[in-house]
Amino acid sequence: MIAFDNSFARLPAGFFTRTAPTPVRDPALIALNRPLADRLGLDADWLAGPEGLAMLSGNRLPEGAAGIAQAYAGHQFGGFVPQLGDGRAVLLGEVVAPDGQRFDLQLKGAGPTPFSRRGDGRAWLGPVLREYLVSEFMAAAGIPTTRALAAVSTGENVIRETLLPGAILTRVAASHIRVGTFEFFAVRGDTERLRLLADHTIARHYPQAGSALELLRAVVAAQAATIAGWMALGFVHGVMNTDNMALSGETIDYGPCAFVDGFDPRAVFSSIDTGGRYAWIEQPNIAVWNLAQLASCLVPLMGDQDQAIRDATQAVHDFPRIYEGEWLARFAAKLGIASPREEDRALIEDLLRLMATGRADFTRCFAGLADGRARDEFADPAPFDEWHARWQRRIAGEADPQAVMARANPRRIPRNHLVEEVIAAARDRGDYQPFHALNAALTLPFSDKPEWQRYALAPTPEQVVHRTFCGT
Ligand code: AMP
Ligand code: MG
Repeated sequence: MIAFDNSFARLPAGFFTRTAPTPVRDPALIALNRPLADRLGLDADWLAGPEGLAMLSGNRLPEGAAGIAQAYAGHQFGGFVPQLGDGRAVLLGEVVAPDGQRFDLQLKGAGPTPFSRRGDGRAWLGPVLREYLVSEFMAAAGIPTTRALAAVSTGENVIRETLLPGAILTRVAASHIRVGTFEFFAVRGDTERLRLLADHTIARHYPQAGSALELLRAVVAAQAATIAGWMALGFVHGVMNTDNMALSGETIDYGPCAFVDGFDPRAVFSSIDTGGRYAWIEQPNIAVWNLAQLASCLVPLMGDQDQAIRDATQAVHDFPRIYEGEWLARFAAKLGIASPREEDRALIEDLLRLMATGRADFTRCFAGLADGRARDEFADPAPFDEWHARWQRRIAGEADPQAVMARANPRRIPRNHLVEEVIAAARDRGDYQPFHALNAALTLPFSDKPEWQRYALAPTPEQVVHRTFCGT
């Protein structure tokens, strides 16, 4: 039994359509995230049992569940699409955790909805396992993100380029309200629903915000912090469309996302991002672009329109300042500096430049600063040695740089080749053991165990993954 309390589903008509998941033939539990179930106040044993499986596979909508698909629009690669919506996701509803925080439970891959357009509403195993691993790693690394409560196989195939095993992810999010949700009503000139949505979002995420302008400022600040976190992990989201940007500030919609191995600021992995719009280095700029779309949506709620435009513009223009502060804190910590100074920026940027020149492995380089192994990541160590001497002088006065670095530099990341390896084992042999082993290693990214050493290695040239796919 789950005590649902579905505030979004209590909004009036127009925000969603009632949609039940489509049952599947032969569901089986692949993974259940017990620590997350505990955090949400859910009974993990119930979830792992027959009734839980019936819910997690979409075979039975439990009592009190909402069963809705949410409406939203979005700018995809800069082009506006007035109607997208949950095409392969059904919101079960909301639960309030023991600490009072409210969370959405959503089934991703639960069958077609009125928003599916030509899609089948399903997901295959690959993207489900990928999102599970990456979102749980991000959470463990301290980045705001949606979470993965469960993955189930459906016992059915989905048709992509070939037949592939189907799966469903149970996603947990502070909410699924996106910039695109606001755009949906703004483009329709529906100021009444826009206001209801803004009020709902404020009540849910930013209760201290007293106006649409304050909501915008809060989202700008939340996104600046999240994206600085991405940058510090070498994370490339891959599809920063406005429908994939959450008002809560959580990272959402793990599609063709990937982490850089050999550092290249212009790294792009997604097969469809041919122009490099969503390259690693572009992410803060794109965030500003997306937030400008949100700002335009909120202006009609902000009273005197001339003043509203000035205020909203200023709120978006505040992003770089907030982001730079978050960026400095994140990257300085990676160098063992707890209280950064403005001049540390140059020290950080010089290291990043050296890393880019030599395509040094991003994760190993930072993790290796603590034990002297960073030098091994440079084919030409001389410039690094010079930098290293400067860095040593800087941290000489720091209280405990080792402790600061240990918390800021993960030993392991969900490297693309490792993720693909565990997906292949699951797909080809029905073997989920590699997935579970990798997940265990990634959810303790700041700890070491001998059996995890393999995961910390950079890919060999043959293992490097250059392209990732939305893989819907
Ligand atoms: P995404 O690229 O995952 O952000 O999805 C963009 C839009 O396409 C959203 O409206 C999704 O719900 C929809 N979509 C993606 N995959 C499918 C699918 N297999 N079936 C139906 N709709 C989908
Ligand atoms: Mg999406």
